[in-house]
Amino acid sequence: MNYKLWINGQWEDTQGGGITIIENPATGEKIAEAIDASRADVDRAVQAAHTAFYDGRWSKLTPGERSLALWRLADLLQARMEDFAQAESENTGKPYSMVSLGADLPFAIDNIRFFAAAARDTHGNSSGEYAKGFTSIYRREPVGVVGQIAPWNYPLMMGIWKLGPALAAGCTVVLKPAPTTPITTLMLGELIKEAGIPDGVVNVISGGNETGQALVEHPLVRMVSLTGSTGTGKKIMKTAADTLKRVHLELGGKAPVIVFDDADIDAAAAAATLASTFNTGQDCTAATRVYVEQSQANRAIEAIVEAMRAVKIGLPFEDGVQMGPLISNTQRERVKGFVDRARSRGATILTGGNIPSDYANGYYFEPTVITDADQKAEIIQSEVFGPVLTINTFKAEEEALRYGNDVLYGLAASLWTKDIGRAMRLSAALEFGTVWINDHIPLASETPHGGFKQSGFGKDLSAEAVAEYKITKHVMVKNT
Ligand code: NAD
Repeated sequence: MNYKLWINGQWEDTQGGGITIIENPATGEKIAEAIDASRADVDRAVQAAHTAFYDGRWSKLTPGERSLALWRLADLLQARMEDFAQAESENTGKPYSMVSLGADLPFAIDNIRFFAAAARDTHGNSSGEYAKGFTSIYRREPVGVVGQIAPWNYPLMMGIWKLGPALAAGCTVVLKPAPTTPITTLMLGELIKEAGIPDGVVNVISGGNETGQALVEHPLVRMVSLTGSTGTGKKIMKTAADTLKRVHLELGGKAPVIVFDDADIDAAAAAATLASTFNTGQDCTAATRVYVEQSQANRAIEAIVEAMRAVKIGLPFEDGVQMGPLISNTQRERVKGFVDRARSRGATILTGGNIPSDYANGYYFEPTVITDADQKAEIIQSEVFGPVLTINTFKAEEEALRYGNDVLYGLAASLWTKDIGRAMRLSAALEFGTVWINDHIPLASETPHGGFKQSGFGKDLSAEAVAEYKITKHVMVKNT
C-alpha cells in the first residue's frame, strides 16, 4: 500500500517530497510506502487548515454540532476497530490482542467520546460587572491552526490525544505522525471525513523531522503541540520562539517506583514488570527505576526477576504474546547501548540484557533487570525507552523521596505503601505530573496527563487539554 497525504479532505500527491519505506518491526519486512512531505506540502496543508479555520466551517459550529461529529468519529472507529488494530500491530509490532485491540483502540475511542462531551463544557465562559458601568464577558475562543507532532510509541492514540481536544475547542489541525508509524493516523483521515468533520479541518501529513520543523516554522500556525523526546521539545520551543507560537510539550519520562516495606511486594513486582514491558517499555510513563526499602530488597528483586523472565515475547498475532519488538533497529541499538554501558561501568544485569535469538529479523530485546547502578549513573538518569528496569534500595523515606525526584524528568511516579499518611506526604512532595499509589500506569480520559520539569508542560486528556487549545478574550461592554 502506498499512502499519500491527507489534505483538505482528499488524498494528495507530494510536491517535491520523498518516499519513506514503512516496515513491520517484528519481521523487518516492508509493509507500505509513505510520503516524506516537503515544505510545499506542509504549506498546502497549513493553508487548507487556515482557510477552514477562518471561514468558520468548524469553529463557528455550535459546540453541540462539533460534539456530534466527534461522537460519529468514535462510532466509526469502533466499527473499524479490528482493521485499525491490525494495521497498528503491523506497523509497530505491538501484541494485537493485549495492546492494539485490547488497550490502544478501546482507550482511543473512549478518549474521543470524552472530548465529544468536553466540547460542550461551558466552564470558564462567564460574564459580570467588575468595573462600574461595564459588563465584562469572557469568550473562550479556539487558538486557530494547530501544528501537531506525534511519536511512534502509540501512533493512533497519540494522534487522538492531539486531535480530540483541538477539535473540541474548535481549532483546525495539521497533524504529523512519526516517520516510522504514519499508517493508522493517515487511515483516520477518511474516517474523519465520513464522520462529517468538514474538509480542511484535519490534515494529516507524513514525514520526518524536517517536515515537523517546517510545520513549526510556518507563520500561519498559531500553536504547536508535540509529544516526543525532551531534546525535540527543546528544539521546537526555540523554533517556535521566532514566531512566538504557543507550545504544548509532552516529553520524556523516567518514572520511579518507590516500594516501602509495608507494601504488597508481589503486587508491586507485578505492576513494575507490566509497566516496564507493556509496549516494550516504549512508554513515557513506563516503570523504570525501582527503589525498594532495604529490608524487602531481596524479596522484591526475586519477584521482579521471576516476573520479567516470564514475560512472553513474540510476534504480534501469536496467542498470549505480552511483548513485541522495539520500533526499529536504531531504537534497539540505543537500548542495547545503555545496557552495555551500564554493564561495563559495574552494574549487574540480573536478567535479560541481550537480543533474543528467536525472531532474528525483528527488533526484539529481552526484558532486563539491572542492579548495583549508582544513582548518578546514565542508566538511572536517562530515558532508555525499552524494557529495562533498575532496582536500588533505600533506608528511609527522605532518601526514597530524594532518589525519586533526582532526575531531570517529572512525568509519572508510583509509590507503594499501606501507610496513608506517608502516601499523602510523598504524593505531595514528588515532582511528577502523575503519582500513583499502589499501582503504576492506568489513566482515564477524564484525568490530566502531563509533565513537570523537563517532561514538558501542558496537559493531554481531561478538560485541561481542551483549555490548552483555547484563548480567552475579554469583551468589555459599556452599559450606562
Ligand atoms: P522524537 O522526539 O524523536 O520525535 C517525535 C516527533 O517529533 C516525530 O514526529 C518527529 O518527526 C518530530 N520531530 C523531531 N525533530 C523535530 C523538529 N526539530 N521539529 C519538529 N518536529 C520534530 O520522539 P520519538 O522517538 O518519536 O518518541 C519517543 C519520545 O516521546 C520519548 O522521549 C517519550 O518519552 C516521548 N513520549 C512522551 C509522551 C508524553 O505524554 N509525555 C508520550 C509518548 C512518548
